[in-house]
Amino acid sequence: MNEKKPYRRTRAVQAGIGTDKGERAIIPPLYLSSTYKMKGLEDFSDYQYSRTRNPTRDILAEAISDLEGGFGATITSSGMAAITLILHLLNPDDLLIAPYDCYGRAYRLMAELAAKGHFKLEFMDQYSEDAASLMAAKRPRMIFIESPSNPIMRIANIAAISGAVKDTNPDCLIVCDNTFLSPILQNPIALGADIVCHSTTKFLNGHSDVVGGAVVAKTEELWKDLDFWANSLGLIGAPFDSYMTLRGLRTLELRITRAQDNAIKVADFLKSQSKVDTVFYPGLEDHEGYDTAQKQQEGPGAMLSFTLKGDKKTAASFVNALEIFALAQSLGGTESLINHPASMTHVSMGEEARAKAGVTDTLLRLSIGVEHSDDLIADLTQALNK
Ligand code: PLP
Repeated sequence: MNEKKPYRRTRAVQAGIGTDKGERAIIPPLYLSSTYKMKGLEDFSDYQYSRTRNPTRDILAEAISDLEGGFGATITSSGMAAITLILHLLNPDDLLIAPYDCYGRAYRLMAELAAKGHFKLEFMDQYSEDAASLMAAKRPRMIFIESPSNPIMRIANIAAISGAVKDTNPDCLIVCDNTFLSPILQNPIALGADIVCHSTTKFLNGHSDVVGGAVVAKTEELWKDLDFWANSLGLIGAPFDSYMTLRGLRTLELRITRAQDNAIKVADFLKSQSKVDTVFYPGLEDHEGYDTAQKQQEGPGAMLSFTLKGDKKTAASFVNALEIFALAQSLGGTESLINHPASMTHVSMGEEARAKAGVTDTLLRLSIGVEHSDDLIADLTQALNK
C-alpha cells in the first residue's frame, strides 16, 4: 500500500494528521458511510462500498503497516478474525505448525479447522535449541509463532526459525502474532516473518474499549491475497472501531514505555516474595528466553505471569484480595488486569494441552497498566499478605 518511510517512531502520532481533503481538519474525520456516490458508470475510485474500502480503516491500516515495516495491512473485526483470515491462505494439503502453548482460542480455532480438513496441523515446541531445524524438516506451508507466548512468556527465535525454514522451503509463510509486544518492542518482519497479526483489542488500541485485529503483509502479493479474503469473507473492522484504535495508537509508545517500566518493577518485586513460586518475564535474567528476547525485542514488555505456592484456592483468595488489579480476560489497556488462564483464557485448550503448556491452577497472568508502580506493588503486597 505504501513504500517504506522515515520517522518510524513518529508515524503513529502523525498517522493521517492534516490529510483531510474536505475541510483540512487536523484529525482525519470518521467516515461511517457504508457507500459512496459514484461519478458515473465508469467511476472505479477506491471508495465505493465500505466492506471493500473505507477511508478511516485505510488510515489505520497504513499506520499499523508502517509501524511493522510491512507493505500493507488489513484491519479486521477482532484478533480472531485476523487469525481466521491468515488461515484462509492454507489449502487442505498444507501443513501448519503452531506452538503447543499459544493463546487458547487460537489453539482451538486451528484444531477445529484442521479437524474439518481445512489444513494439516501440528502443534510443536518452538523454543528448544533444535526447534527451527525440526520444524523445517516437516516442510510446512505455514509456521505460526506467538512470541512472547500467552501466558508463559516463552520466546521463539523468529530469525532462527525463519532462516532454517526458508533455507529448505522458501515458500513457507512465517506468521507472527505480535499482540503481546506491539511494533514498538518487536518487528517480526525485520526478523524474517512474512505476516504479522495483532489483536488490536490489546496494546494498539490500548484503552479496553474496542475489539479489533490487524494483519500486516510483507509483500504486495501477500497483502492483495489477504485483502481479497478479508473482503470476500467480510472479516473487516468497523470504521468507528478503526477511528478509536487510531486514536489509541497515537499514544502507543508512551503507554507501552510506562507500562513496561512498571512491569520491570513488578517482576522484580514478585521475584523477591516467598509466597511466589516462579515468575515468567523475559526481562528477568533467569528467564529461559532471556538471551533471545534481548536480541529480538526492544524491551521485555508489559506482560508477565507467575505461579503462587499453594493450590487453586490460594490463587482465588489472592485474586479476590486485590484492589487495583481487576480480574478480566483481556490485556494491553491503560489499567492493570489479572487473569487466571487455567479457568479463563486457556480453558478451551483442554486439560492435557494446558498441562503440557504449563498452564497450572496457580498460574496468574498480569497485564501491567500505566498506573504508578508504587501503587501496583502496594496492592500486590497487601493481597499476598492476606
Ligand atoms: N492473539 C493473542 C496473543 C491474544 O492474546 C488474543 C486475545 O486475547 C487474540 C489473539 C485474539 O484477539 P481478539 O480477542 O481480539 O479476538
